[in-house]
Amino acid sequence: MKLKCLKCKEHARKIVLPTYEYVKGVTLQNVAAFECPKCRELVFTEKQVGDMEKRADAIKAHLFAFVRKITVSGRSLVINIPEDVVRHMRLSKGKKTKLFPIDDKRLLLEVA
Ligand SMILES: [Zn+2]
Repeated sequence: MKLKCLKCKEHARKIVLPTYEYVKGVTLQNVAAFECPKCRELVFTEKQVGDMEKRADAIKAHLFAFVRKITVSGRSLVINIPEDVVRHMRLSKGKKTKLFPIDDKRLLLEVA
């Protein structure tokens, strides 16, 4: 398998990266890749990308996450916080938090 660097057209050589952050927050270990000897740009084969995708999905499935339904209290929407998270973050009634909408799918909560 021969791959060329997209920038300088040099033949990239096969390497194994000890760690590689495939997507934000998901770091894989021992990742096969090709590296340009000149500019060090990384190039991946379709198979290598498919492999990283599979490995990243397996990791993401085990990340700390809870599924919660939105309920209603009066005129407000409410999301219940699981007890494990309450304990872990030392949350209690009256404690101030800040909400940061990241995009239309994600919301970050920070204890003030
Ligand atoms: Zn290059």
